[in-house]
Amino acid sequence: MSAYELIDHEYDVVVVGAGGAGLRATLGMVQAGLKTACVTKIFPTRSHTVAAQGGVAASLANMGEDSWQWHMYDTVKGADWLGDQDAIEYMCREAVPSVYELEHFGVPFSRTKEGKIYQRPFGGHMRDFGAAPVPRACAAADRTGHAILHALYQQSLKHDAEFFIEYFAIDLIMDKGVCRGVVAWNLADGTLHRFRAHMVVLATGGYGRSYFSCTSAHTCTGDGNGMVARAGLPLQDMEFVQFHPTGIYTAGCLITEGARGEGGYLTNSEGERFMERYAPTAKDLASRDVVSRAMTIEIREGRGCGPKKDHIDLHLEHLGGDVLHKMLPGITETAKIFSGVDAVKEPIPVLPTVHYNMGGIPTNYLGEVLNPTAKNPDAVAPGLMAIGEAACVSVHGANRLGCNSLLDIVVFGRAAAIRTAEVVKPGAPHKPLKNDAELSLSRFDRLRNADGGLRVAEIRLNMQMAMQKDAAVFRTAESLQEGCKAVAGVAATLADVKLADRSMIWNSDLAEAMELENLMVCAQTTIVGAEARHESRGAHAREDFPNRDDAEWMKHTLAWCDDKYAVKLDYRPVHAYTLTKDVAYIEPKARVY
Ligand SMILES: Cc1cc2nc3c(=O)[nH]c(=O)nc-3n(C[C@H](O)[C@H](O)[C@H](O)COP(=O)(O)OP(=O)(O)OC[C@H]3O[C@@H](n4cnc5c(N)ncnc54)[C@H](O)[C@@H]3O)c2cc1C
Repeated sequence: MSAYELIDHEYDVVVVGAGGAGLRATLGMVQAGLKTACVTKIFPTRSHTVAAQGGVAASLANMGEDSWQWHMYDTVKGADWLGDQDAIEYMCREAVPSVYELEHFGVPFSRTKEGKIYQRPFGGHMRDFGAAPVPRACAAADRTGHAILHALYQQSLKHDAEFFIEYFAIDLIMDKGVCRGVVAWNLADGTLHRFRAHMVVLATGGYGRSYFSCTSAHTCTGDGNGMVARAGLPLQDMEFVQFHPTGIYTAGCLITEGARGEGGYLTNSEGERFMERYAPTAKDLASRDVVSRAMTIEIREGRGCGPKKDHIDLHLEHLGGDVLHKMLPGITETAKIFSGVDAVKEPIPVLPTVHYNMGGIPTNYLGEVLNPTAKNPDAVAPGLMAIGEAACVSVHGANRLGCNSLLDIVVFGRAAAIRTAEVVKPGAPHKPLKNDAELSLSRFDRLRNADGGLRVAEIRLNMQMAMQKDAAVFRTAESLQEGCKAVAGVAATLADVKLADRSMIWNSDLAEAMELENLMVCAQTTIVGAEARHESRGAHAREDFPNRDDAEWMKHTLAWCDDKYAVKLDYRPVHAYTLTKDVAYIEPKARVY
């Protein structure tokens, strides 16, 4: 392994990822006087955050009465009581200052007539503890993520953050359970780098690409999750995968829920607005798990649209060209390109599509990664943080509300910087490393020289197909057991992978092989966790266990995945308490829509 030379760097903090979460953390770290490197495999403004359309939730009350307590209630309920209420309280309280902060950073929000930040209704966001929809999603037309990501990158540059762009993080450097840094590969010139840091922050995003049809970018491959698993730490609640009701039929690209927030609605082949039957109060704005399941039932029962009766229609025509071009220009264009439909004149064909990963690296509300033990389920792994979609705080529990993720990434990106400033002294010396980068380099070398019989793309497709079929909107013991077998079978074929390119410079075959190993960790922990959870909660809908079972299952799944992709499960309690004394714990209730 000594054939590889390492270039050394020393920082107070290394942030891996330059999406909304990574950039907000990087900015906060630099502002706190910490020497910070931000390592990212793609150019910062190409991160998946750029694709977020609908908005960022905060109870600003610009367009009607609102309060952060109502927001907290909706989030706890949307999470189907699997969320940690201390973290949810923190997020909903901090939403308001965090969004004003974004405004001051230069995010060009849409405006009301009075010049305030424009807000639109979004699924599951209600006033008066569930009484009626409230406009809570702060939006920059339907390009909110784009606006936020660019503003945060510009601010980070203004504050002289140091970026390592197109550097692929391979693995963490761990020393007796303490994280000491990260090893990365510079895609452009083939050099290998060892970043030493007192705090490593993983902000690597979700793993939508373990499925065949998803709304997320090709770069969403759960790399941070893979690194954590290889470091011997668990992942949490991976079985909770959100399907967005309105992916464009066949292409999978997203049509934002903001389209229904602006007045769009769904119909079946009989022209019926069927959501009125499933969710009489929230109707088309019920939370995503509810709408996705209703659509799936309509199609199954023969009321799907089109010649094959295999999709649902989303109507926006009645809103008129002016509203569509002003408030939803991006999705009007997407509908034209990907389904050939003029949304001003005809409905858009849609289908539930994988959209978001509620599970991820377990953390507390400060951003610190957990390494739970039997004695202390909240024990912290020193030197390591996780934020954004890679993390499981858990504020989204079993199901995330729309617009709560852009919120999560800014609130916890900011929280990570606040906490790091408390525990890391700028410029503190680094201890000598006992354990060097041998582990990451041997993995790198093994893959680079892999000479089996199967291409990366073949193995990836097999995994994606198995996940799409067996870890779907509705699940049963049979489908999940079949899925466990199928995914484990595909994982075993990774030993027989063949790489065609052995070079060091822009070797995309090698980068994709490393991504595939990370995706496989995510796929395995998702399907094994799903098989074991004998209840229905949030996005996890078991036909053989249709009810939520709080007595047995109100607990977080922990999943350890070893280097043979074998998964071991355990559980830790949900935080059934709030952060501050003046806020009451929200008692579990049956779901009424
Ligand atoms: C189409 C779409 C629309 C959405 N709309 C909304 C919305 O309107 N409102 C809302 O709240 N949420 C929305 N979401 C969800 C939300 O956008 C995401 O959950 C959130 O932006 C994730 O941000 P992140 O910073 O965690 O990760 P990302 O933005 O995915 O960034 C990940 C970063 O990690 C880096 N990275 C990954 N692996 C490595 C590695 N090995 N080495 C180095 N760097 C690495 C990448 O380079 C990238 O910079 C949407 C999601 C999608 C897919």
